[in-house]
Amino acid sequence: MSGMIGVVGSNMVDLVTTIGRMPAWGETLEAPGFAMGFGGKGANQAVAAARLGASVMMVTRVGDDLFGGDVKNNLERNGVDVRHVRTAPGAANGVAPIFIDPNGENAILIVKGANDHLSPADVDAASSDLARCGLIVLQLEVPLETVYHTIDWARREGISVLLNPAPANPDLDLDRVKDVAFFMPNQTELALLTGRETETVEQATEAAQLLLARGMGTVVVTLGGDGALLVTPDGVEHLPPVRVQARDTSGAGDAFIGAFAAHFMGGLALRPALREATRYAALSVTRSGTQASFAGAAEFAGFDP
Ligand code: ATP
Repeated sequence: MSGMIGVVGSNMVDLVTTIGRMPAWGETLEAPGFAMGFGGKGANQAVAAARLGASVMMVTRVGDDLFGGDVKNNLERNGVDVRHVRTAPGAANGVAPIFIDPNGENAILIVKGANDHLSPADVDAASSDLARCGLIVLQLEVPLETVYHTIDWARREGISVLLNPAPANPDLDLDRVKDVAFFMPNQTELALLTGRETETVEQATEAAQLLLARGMGTVVVTLGGDGALLVTPDGVEHLPPVRVQARDTSGAGDAFIGAFAAHFMGGLALRPALREATRYAALSVTRSGTQASFAGAAEFAGFDP
């Protein structure tokens, strides 16, 4: 089996403005600070895996604007194969304007832009390279028809799929995705997809078992500071969190998925790969930023919480 990972998904540019307060409609206010960062769930997961030394290719659409080229360069700088990163003619790059107030509360807008143009035809155009991957990683920041198309294609090719059903989307048709190898929601996504409460480990376990009853084989629920749950027909296992002083949890889920993919494709078995993912995500929450908080392989090897 090839160790290459194919990420078919989104990219965004985070536009982070620190504010004193939100302006009212019609009001203009000065804000104290601004910073940009590379994001998008697909790109984040690709970068995390690549920084850990995995061989990663990405299929995504960038904007026909100032940001598009930078996004592609960033992926390339991080070692991601960008041959299937294409510009969406006339479209703006996906952006996430984020406003952070002095208490650290945030308000976020997602403008999907070029991500909405990632089509089944883009997947077909990349298929000869995707066919060399051992694992295809998907999220839900691109059109659902592209997600379903990729899963259908991977099934025919006999390639494993990891689906991270994020952000939560009530329109996801579980019957069309139930045979993915790994289904990895967080608690919010699991609650939305099952209509159950998922606050406690027990509740999340019951909800995940509903997914098994619908035909899923391996469900991994990320539980934030409570670690993760592995739920399979063989049983339930709680992977405890790695205890750290959390500073900024944004991107923790993407760190977890990217690290799992990298370690699993690197040859670790399911449980050890999940344990490495909880360690990698824990390291990421001790640092600020999203991609900025993702460690490289050498640094991660030295992480001893
Ligand atoms: P985000 O949307 O912020 O990227 P998420 O909701 O998708 O995150 P979480 O479930 O919050 O994902 O976190 C993913 C993983 O990160 C967890 O399973 C856990 O292993 C690790 N993690 C998150 N928060 C903490 C924390 N405070 N301490 C230790 N590990 C954490």
